[in-house]
Amino acid sequence: MPPVDRKDPQRAKSSSSRYSLMEFMREFPDDDACLEHLWRSRFSDDGEHAHCPKCDKRRSFKRYATAQRRQSWTCTACGHHIQPTAGTIFHKSSTSLVLWFYACYLMTSTKCGVSAKHLERSWA
Ligand SMILES: [Zn+2]
Repeated sequence: MPPVDRKDPQRAKSSSSRYSLMEFMREFPDDDACLEHLWRSRFSDDGEHAHCPKCDKRRSFKRYATAQRRQSWTCTACGHHIQPTAGTIFHKSSTSLVLWFYACYLMTSTKCGVSAKHLERSWA
């Protein structure tokens, strides 16, 4: 058997998995990575420009570091805030985004889904 890189495991040809837990953890290590994913998938394909509803134009957006750790991006032209979690199940949730994303990963990576009790046990 050839040597295996434990930090970068390769999927066996026989595996039916398309997205492993290791790949999930690499892509979403923390809440900021999850928020950035929501921002890019919902509003900004390049992570910097998005359609500003107030200016009604494609504008440059920035995420300013605030003491409150605001989870929003701000239009650099008019100051309008866009919250990537607005209108989703993640909005105003006290559960961290990475746990929400992990729940989504579990639900979509198992054939029979996952029960609420199973989620509760795996988070505690
Ligand atoms: Zn604007």
